[in-house]
Amino acid sequence: MHYISTRGDAPAAAFEDVLLAGLAPDGGLYVPRAWPSLPAEAVAGFEDRTYAEVAAAVLAPFAGGAFDEPTLLAMARDVYGRFDHPDVAPLTQVGEEDYILELFHGRTLAFKDFAMQILGAMFDAVLARRDRRLTIIAATSGDTGAAAIEALRPCERVDVVVLHPEGRVTEVQRRIMTTVDAPNVHNIAVEGSFDDCQAIVKRLFADDAFVAAVSLGGVNSINWARLAAQTVYYFTAHAALAAPGERVSFVVPTGNFGDVFAGYVAKRMGLGVGRLAVATNANDILHRAMTTGHYAPAAVTPTASPSMDIQVASNFERLLYDVTGRDGAAMKARMADFAATRAMRLSEAERGAIAEDFVSCATGEEETLAEIRTHYDETQTLIDPHTAVGRRAAKALRRQGALDGKIVTLATAHPAKFPASVEKATGIRPDLPPAYADLYDRPEKMVRTPNDIEAVRGVILERVRGAGGA
Ligand SMILES: *Cc1c(COP(=O)(O)O)cnc(C)c1O
Repeated sequence: MHYISTRGDAPAAAFEDVLLAGLAPDGGLYVPRAWPSLPAEAVAGFEDRTYAEVAAAVLAPFAGGAFDEPTLLAMARDVYGRFDHPDVAPLTQVGEEDYILELFHGRTLAFKDFAMQILGAMFDAVLARRDRRLTIIAATSGDTGAAAIEALRPCERVDVVVLHPEGRVTEVQRRIMTTVDAPNVHNIAVEGSFDDCQAIVKRLFADDAFVAAVSLGGVNSINWARLAAQTVYYFTAHAALAAPGERVSFVVPTGNFGDVFAGYVAKRMGLGVGRLAVATNANDILHRAMTTGHYAPAAVTPTASPSMDIQVASNFERLLYDVTGRDGAAMKARMADFAATRAMRLSEAERGAIAEDFVSCATGEEETLAEIRTHYDETQTLIDPHTAVGRRAAKALRRQGALDGKIVTLATAHPAKFPASVEKATGIRPDLPPAYADLYDRPEKMVRTPNDIEAVRGVILERVRGAGGA
């Protein structure tokens, strides 16, 4: 399997290179040269397979020459065996034809563990093969950083540096990151916003000498390997609920268009996916683009579902590329125009092509909290604000006739990660899972820095083990 860039101006790359590089050198995003399809018999057989077995079968065509299926199976058994539910991604029924797919049984209580955990295992293997070290750096608004730390801390050859905006993540989110005691984990609390953290990370990546000195790599949500890993739970959910050819629709709380794009990939691979619903919070650029054809970022509004407080949905480029005939030169021109004008028009034909697979719904703050309350009244269980955005969209879209039949809503985070919002909505403070019972007693480890690239660079060079070496 080879990968090409959406902007058509980078050499084709193998899975290993795509895994380590993240972004393509022409600024585009890697996609497989052609979508692999899984034989119908294989998909039909998933009903009787474990999560790890399905993961190995689904990832094998993507991992090409890098990892064979038995190797992927061993990795998947190891990493998904650490989840705190035997089904890994269990389904619960919440209505006649409505289901919730629980994606928060990994160590850091959000769906990002699914991709990050297997990425950690892949990094370990590839770096050993190449006898290299890597420093991974990430800016986080809470969930990505925690998942990266937890996944990469066992990796001998990786240092992981995570920048979070001081005081702007929930205490649970911060403690999950800062109470990890490992020599290769480095938390930096920056006196600034998430955007400040991200700007520092971008500038560090642009500094060639620094990149070489620490052997810098990234794990942000445009990394193809993360998307590939996220296609797996669409297959397991479908197998658990429906006959092989039957259509099941999925509602996905969305920020960067990564998770919902993974559902599109599963559909292209032959899975019986009906429609994919893009569920956004008040930061509704994708909903506006799909309903009006006008894709234009506004200022970010802070919400109770902060992991979706994003305006530019990076992975949307992959969808546009695919539905417009995979014309890299046209995409390159279009993205240059977008960078200059901060706006993009979708033609009628493009909107029509997108509407064959996608619908959308935006949910405001009050409705989100009301949905947490209603869900509790109906089921006596708590959901987090991201999941509530999804459930609200599922109900609205079914009512409008935009979705029918079996509908699965992805539950992207555990309610205990967002205790203040859940308590505000229901009066009940959600309990942390047993593994985190002593979270508030554990010592925290982090370095505080001003909002200043030199200060951050200094901390990294002082602490990272690969600095100056191989
Ligand atoms: C990251 C995240 C999302 C959004 O996922 P995208 O792939 O960026 O669309 C939704 N919910 C939670 C809890 C997240 O951490």
